[in-house]
Amino acid sequence: MDKLIGEWQAGKDSKSDQNKKLIVQISKQKARNINRLADDFHADTIKKIDCLACANCCTTIPPIVNETDIRRISKFLGIKTARFTHEYLTTDEDGDQVMKKVPCVFLGTDNKCAIYEVRPKACREYPHTDQSQFMKNLNLHLVNVRYCPIVYQILERFKTGI
Ligand code: SF4
Ligand code: SF4
Repeated sequence: MDKLIGEWQAGKDSKSDQNKKLIVQISKQKARNINRLADDFHADTIKKIDCLACANCCTTIPPIVNETDIRRISKFLGIKTARFTHEYLTTDEDGDQVMKKVPCVFLGTDNKCAIYEVRPKACREYPHTDQSQFMKNLNLHLVNVRYCPIVYQILERFKTGI
């Protein structure tokens, strides 16, 4: 197992209070500065963590699937959008359409995504820590740090100095 994935497993729950304090501290900083740092930390972290050795997002979080995703994936699968919606999606408590099952039915035993080229936007953008999106997703990071080693490592980097 990746060393950094092991660190996440060991610290994801025990550092909960520490991470809450960090997020409050970050929220008081300038968005542009934080986003620039987060983009750097993200770029560095994804070089060190092998998502194929993890796949925890695909195993535990049903992604939102929007209308554009539905059209694109249905076309890829060669089925009608109504059939795709009926077979693969459900509506969550927020009214969003999400994948019906976790682990995701498109996740292979090798942790590869069978619809990788056309996967939902939510999957492509997960864990929402780069592209200057970090600051606007602060509350989400507090949730995702428990699911994603990348988010965990980025928060650890912020702890060494903002
Ligand atoms: S994005 Fe995060 S949770 Fe998903 S596979 Fe990569 S490290 Fe794991
Ligand atoms: S569609 Fe692909 S990337 Fe998205 S959750 Fe399913 S297996 Fe993972």
